[in-house]
Formats: sequence, structure tokens, C-alpha cells
Amino acid sequence: MNIIFLGAPGSGKGTQAAILASELKIPAISTGEALRKEVELESEIGKLAKSYMNSGKLVPDEVVVGIIQSRITQQDCNKGFILDGFPRNMNQAIILDSMLSSLGKKIEKVFNFEAGEEILIKRISGRFSCKNCGTVYNRYFKLPTQEGVCDNCKSNHFENRADDNEATVKNRLKIYHESTFELTQYYEKKNLLVLVDAIKSAPLVFEELIKATNSPQN
Ligand SMILES: [Zn+2]
Repeated sequence: MNIIFLGAPGSGKGTQAAILASELKIPAISTGEALRKEVELESEIGKLAKSYMNSGKLVPDEVVVGIIQSRITQQDCNKGFILDGFPRNMNQAIILDSMLSSLGKKIEKVFNFEAGEEILIKRISGRFSCKNCGTVYNRYFKLPTQEGVCDNCKSNHFENRADDNEATVKNRLKIYHESTFELTQYYEKKNLLVLVDAIKSAPLVFEELIKATNSPQN
């Protein structure tokens, strides 16, 4: 099964993509990672992508889709794949569709992880981590058992990511929703879109995903 995961930052889609991928024995593909690998391998498409990055330009959508093509034609994608967070806009979706159809493949499900803005802001802006071991906590949802002491390594040094403050997070979400609105409509028209209630706990969300992947229709 060929699947797309869409979801705002903080929606938990990355975590779920990894779990579903291992359940279905197909890879979860992040474009960033696939891109790094092609650059590392110095493949033709990797070199092309790198030439854009070196000149400080965005890698064009056609090239990113080429990277995905190279990834999904590898053997471990024979039974399918999950595209985690791609496409991000209509242009990418259209190029992706035509690339897939040239391979005789198509997208079969698009999971759209939805959660209210307030909870996403808390999930992201509330995040902090242990400076020593990297364990991640959340000011609203997951504090260390003993205040100010890391559960894992007992350190009392913590840090926030600078771009995780509430205002930046709000802005990131706004941009995300603006760029994906059309996209979700596009997949809805194709009858591929499955809404996932991302406010639920991770195990319940996973149950929803399994149910949806087992059902032939949306
Ligand atoms: Zn720690």
C-alpha cells in the first residue's frame, strides 16, 4: 500500500509513520533523509540537488520528486511505502502523481492528522529536553517525576529549542495550514483522504490507522 501522511508540526505523524511502517513492513520515507542519502551517494540526482543547495537555492519540486522516485524504486518499496510529510503543496502533489503513474503506481491512502491549534502549540512550545541526555519533556504534558531533575540521568540542566516559542510555533502552523489546505481538498476529491484525530493518545491513533489501512475504501 502506498500511503501519504500529512500533519502539522506536533501532530505526532512522524512517530505514527514509523510505527505503521514497521507494522506493514514497508519503509517510511522522509524526503529530507532521502535527499541526504542521494547527496551522500553522489548519484546524478543527488549531485543535481546538491548544486541547488550549494548555491543557497531551494531544491526544485521536480528534483525532490526525482529523489522520491529513486527511493521508491528500491526493492524494499515493492509492497508499498509511506511518504512522511510529502507533498507539502499542490505543485508537488501533481508532479508526484505523474511520476507515480509513469511507474504504474498510485497513492492509495492519505492520512491527514488533525488537532486543534491550541494543543499543537502546547505540544511544541511546551517541549524542553535534558541538556545532558536529550530526553524530551513537555511543560504541559510530561514533566520529570521530580521537578527540575531528569528522570533518565538525574541532570538538572534543561534546554528549549529557540524556534519553539509560542509566536514562532503559531506562525509555523499558519504557514502549514495555508500551504496544505488545497492539498487536502485535492486528495479528498480523489476519495483518498482519511482524517485522523491526532488529539487521541498514540495507541488509539495507531488503532485508527490500522483499521483504515485494512478497509478497502475510505
Ligand atoms: Zn537526562
